[in-house]
Amino acid sequence: MLHIDVMDGHFVPNISLGPPVIASLRRATDLYLDCHLMITDPLAYLEPLKEAGANGVTVHIEAVPNPAPVVAEAAQLGLDFGLVMNPPTPVSAIEPYLELTSMVVVMSVNPGFGGQSFIEGALEKIEQLRKTIDSRALSTDIQVDGGVDLRTAGPARVAGADVFVAGTSVFRATDPVAAVKELRTILDRM
Ligand code: ZN
Repeated sequence: MLHIDVMDGHFVPNISLGPPVIASLRRATDLYLDCHLMITDPLAYLEPLKEAGANGVTVHIEAVPNPAPVVAEAAQLGLDFGLVMNPPTPVSAIEPYLELTSMVVVMSVNPGFGGQSFIEGALEKIEQLRKTIDSRALSTDIQVDGGVDLRTAGPARVAGADVFVAGTSVFRATDPVAAVKELRTILDRM
């Protein structure tokens, strides 16, 4: 999948891209477009994102403490829905909503900028989520986002992550295709 960081300059200080760029990506690829919404008002943007070609959206629990209306809108539009938590946010903040999600995202950096180092505390949260998801027999995926590279991907996999977002470790590599293959090789061994 392609993971797309959408930032509004409000929920996070940075501004990245929005529906027009996602529509351009849609014309260039059939890959699943996973839109990570670092925005204050995700509800207002689900329809434009769907029209642009998004397949799934993930929304910050810090932005929408009651995600039910966003879940309903995503379902209505046929978008996969996930919840994201920032490093200081405890797993307990999203546990009540796990049944509503196809994916939960553990931020392993503070959101808003690329190139940060992996926060080790994320591993404990992944482990905790893995236990809860398995104990409730849910099929929710655990995505880890931030600082994923050849050193951190393995431990995140062992902790129970299913989906790995690699930005800097791929796009700043001299050979991005080889960098993805190396990451996949490590994860396939686990
Ligand atoms: Zn992201």
